[in-house]
Amino acid sequence: MNSEATFHPNEELLEGYVQGSLSAGMNVVISAHVELCEDCQQRSQEMEATASQHWMQAEEEQEPAISADVAAIIRSITSQPQVRELPERASAVEEIHMLDHSVRLPRVLAKVASDGLVWKKLANGINQASVTLDDKTQCDFLYMKPGSQVPVHKHQGNEITLVLDGSFSDESGMYRQSDFVVRTPDHTHQPVSEEGCLCFAVLDSPLTFTSGLARLLNPLLRYRFRRATSIGV
Ligand SMILES: [Zn+2]
Repeated sequence: MNSEATFHPNEELLEGYVQGSLSAGMNVVISAHVELCEDCQQRSQEMEATASQHWMQAEEEQEPAISADVAAIIRSITSQPQVRELPERASAVEEIHMLDHSVRLPRVLAKVASDGLVWKKLANGINQASVTLDDKTQCDFLYMKPGSQVPVHKHQGNEITLVLDGSFSDESGMYRQSDFVVRTPDHTHQPVSEEGCLCFAVLDSPLTFTSGLARLLNPLLRYRFRRATSIGV
């Protein structure tokens, strides 16, 4: 799963991911893309380093007595280079079995799928397995059989589609493995897949940025999230 992505999360989404201010569904789909995309690993690590610095500065300026210990912990975390490295591909990584081959999932999606997926057949050769990650997003694995077509549709929120295997195209372009495709409510589109395609799709409400103290804590939460998901052991 090392094909280079052409489409990536924009600055705002990646920033939200690093700050830990997105819904769980959005975090998962971005985390899965970041695992597949070296460019976005680099970008998010740089943002994370900046966010941690700001966090430490803010803490030191506001409450030096309390912050000393916490800042030391953060420093020890951020000074350990192994925290930032992707884990070796573990043999435990789960796969989704398609008609004629299997697709290895990014680790965060392997976790998401670990409770078991229930596939439903929709019209036009589309199969869907829904997972519930939070109450703000609708998350689905979608399998498009070769030659299948999604009916023309529009949506209320943003639709993110991460291509895990195969490819699909719509009016705006062609999307292949690792691509992170964003469709906003003003798009009307009709995805088709000639060769077949496995995707993870998230329908999201607008970004929710937290503020104040909770936001200052986000780099830590983010670190924990990554430990628990894509970086987790
Ligand atoms: Zn990327």
